[in-house]
Amino acid sequence: MITKNIHSDFKICSSCGRKIEFRKKWEKNWPEIKFCSDECRRNKNKFDFRDAILVLLHERGSNKTICPSEVLPPEMKQDKVMMEHVRRSARLLAGDDKIEITQGGKVVDPTDFKGPIRLKLKINKTKESL
Ligand SMILES: [Zn+2]
Repeated sequence: MITKNIHSDFKICSSCGRKIEFRKKWEKNWPEIKFCSDECRRNKNKFDFRDAILVLLHERGSNKTICPSEVLPPEMKQDKVMMEHVRRSARLLAGDDKIEITQGGKVVDPTDFKGPIRLKLKINKTKESL
C-alpha cells in the first residue's frame, strides 16, 4: 500500500512526486524541503498536465487506462522531456489518490517506478471534483 507518511527520513517532492531521501546537509531545514532538485523547484508550475490527465481519464471512463503520451499533442508525443513532465503530473495525482499508475495491469508505487506506465482513475472515491 502507498502511504503518504511524512516519515522523518524521506518525503515526497511536490514537483515530481518522487521520493526525497534525507540528506545530512538538510538537517537544519528538513521540514522546509519541498523539492528534490532546483530543476523541480523551477518546474513546479510549468507543464502541469494534471487537469489534462483527469479530463482524458474521465472522458475514457472509470475502468479504462490511458497512455501518458495521449495527453500530449501529436507533435510532442516523441518529446522525452515533455513525456517526463506528464509522468511528473501523474505521480502527483497518484500521490493525491486521484489516479492509479499501473504497469502490466498492476498498480505501482508512484514515487518509485521505471519504464512505461498507464494511468487509471481511482474509483474508490466519490466524484467530488470534475
Ligand atoms: Zn522532484
